[in-house]
Amino acid sequence: MIDANRGIITGESLVGGIAVKGNGSDFKAWNPALNAHIEPSFHTADADQIDQACRLAGTAFDTFRATTDQERAAFLDTVAEQIVAIGDDLIERAMAETGLPRVRLEGERGRTVNQLKLFADLLREGSYRDVRIDSALPERAPPRPDLRYRLIGVGPVAVFGASNFPLAFSVAGGDTASAFAAGCPVVLKAHPAHPGTSELVARAVVKAVELCGLPAGVFALLTGVGNAIGQTLVAHPEIQAVGFTGSRFGGMALMAVAAARPQPIPVYAEMSSINPLFLLPGALKARGADIAQQFAGSLTMGVGQFCTNPGLVLGIAGPDFDAFAHAAAAALGGVAAGTMLTAGIAGAYQQGVAALAGQQGVKTLALGAHAEGKGGAALFVTSADAFLVEKALHGEVFGPVSLLVACRDVEEMRRVTDHLEGQLTATLQLEEDDYDAAATLLPALERKVGRILANGFPTGVEVSTAMVHGGPFPATADGRSTSVGTGAILRFLRPVCYQNLPQRLLPDALRDGNPLGIWRRRDGVLGKE
Ligand code: NAP
Repeated sequence: MIDANRGIITGESLVGGIAVKGNGSDFKAWNPALNAHIEPSFHTADADQIDQACRLAGTAFDTFRATTDQERAAFLDTVAEQIVAIGDDLIERAMAETGLPRVRLEGERGRTVNQLKLFADLLREGSYRDVRIDSALPERAPPRPDLRYRLIGVGPVAVFGASNFPLAFSVAGGDTASAFAAGCPVVLKAHPAHPGTSELVARAVVKAVELCGLPAGVFALLTGVGNAIGQTLVAHPEIQAVGFTGSRFGGMALMAVAAARPQPIPVYAEMSSINPLFLLPGALKARGADIAQQFAGSLTMGVGQFCTNPGLVLGIAGPDFDAFAHAAAAALGGVAAGTMLTAGIAGAYQQGVAALAGQQGVKTLALGAHAEGKGGAALFVTSADAFLVEKALHGEVFGPVSLLVACRDVEEMRRVTDHLEGQLTATLQLEEDDYDAAATLLPALERKVGRILANGFPTGVEVSTAMVHGGPFPATADGRSTSVGTGAILRFLRPVCYQNLPQRLLPDALRDGNPLGIWRRRDGVLGKE
């Protein structure tokens, strides 16, 4: 029996509801604030454990997906309760492993719990199954059969914990919550940057599985370092989809593994985005100094380690843009370098900033001091002409750095937009006299991004029904999906149509006079019976 609430960390993987010690290499978590290892040692999962976790997930799938929506909602609520029950041990361990402050991690725990509850509510409400019924038309020539449609879970899902959200996008984060809601077992690859936090949460999930009487294969935690775990996991024939947040390189590597399988599977990877901010002329004139202050806050929040960080700012060259640049540089100059999540992320950030500083046509406006493991804020400016020819300026540098691009006019802003890669977000800073300019940009923005904001900042993603946290490649591997909000469940569902099945063989939700009173779509209209 797993003891979830005592802050126990043994460094083991959790497979089949029990802790197992892997034969792979041992490692310790790293405290990035103290530059020191943290006890205990973790034992990297071996191939047998990965295989067993995936097989058990495959075996558990039919039982898990046969649970009612109410039962899975209760399970999600229980996971949330068990996470809260870990108490302060969870926050302290996460602080030690990430260098993130208490207030951020307490907030993130709240978000994690709310995400689980949001999916529980979605299940209780029921419309996610998108039930469609085309009744038989026997008199028609040719006759139409009775057709009934619903969505079911795709099967076991491999989820990769993200380094930058140790709670909300890790073990019981958004990917896991949406997969569970869809009735899919989860095999979780813990991020090696926060293995103790991962184990604590995983024990809470295992406890919830026990309390709800579900098969132990519904959830497994694989701990460890090295690409082999993730690659073996994604290649395993039982795994039917992948949820990933991390680097473009890692995401692409896993997409290649998934595509090379005898049965290729979808990978929902969220990888890189520079989230352009458009400073339209009216807004720049009216509020340039304010926008500069808020921009500096958004850029440096969490030491810039957010996928929605505003890494690109487009404005129209002139005195207002120069004043904005000056004010933003001054605001960033006042922000102390912060501890980054891992030594690797800090190293990549420092290299990325140095590369930007060395680019032809790029002028440095602010360059915070770097120290080991820390990231100082940086701001650069270039022209649209230089940006359009230099692809190296278009990529994500993960951390508190942004590039200002001076455009001649709105038409040039649109041209720059056309040359951008896919993005999670785009933000328009605008006043009423900017609406025409914004309207000319919108079609290009819709093609490029998953979320378009007005007069806000992209960091801080609301977890709700209408949220889209996705976007065309490389923001994500599949721009038709979102990884935040209730729409995230669709990644792990697929449609099944039942043609002329006898009532007794139909799933409850598709039967005539369905006692659940579930949502049905008739003649293109969705309504509750
Ligand atoms: P990462 O290196 O991509 O690692 C994410 C996860 O994938 C880890 O569990 C990692 O574990 C695994 N992995 C990485 N490469 C793999 C490969 N080739 N094959 C199989 N598994 C692989 O990301 P990270 O450690 O979080 O941060 C590194 C960089 O990712 C950052 O500097 C930043 O550029 C980017 N990042 C972006 C976002 C975003 O939201 N856009 C968020 C976080 C990070 P193993 O290394 O043990 O295999």
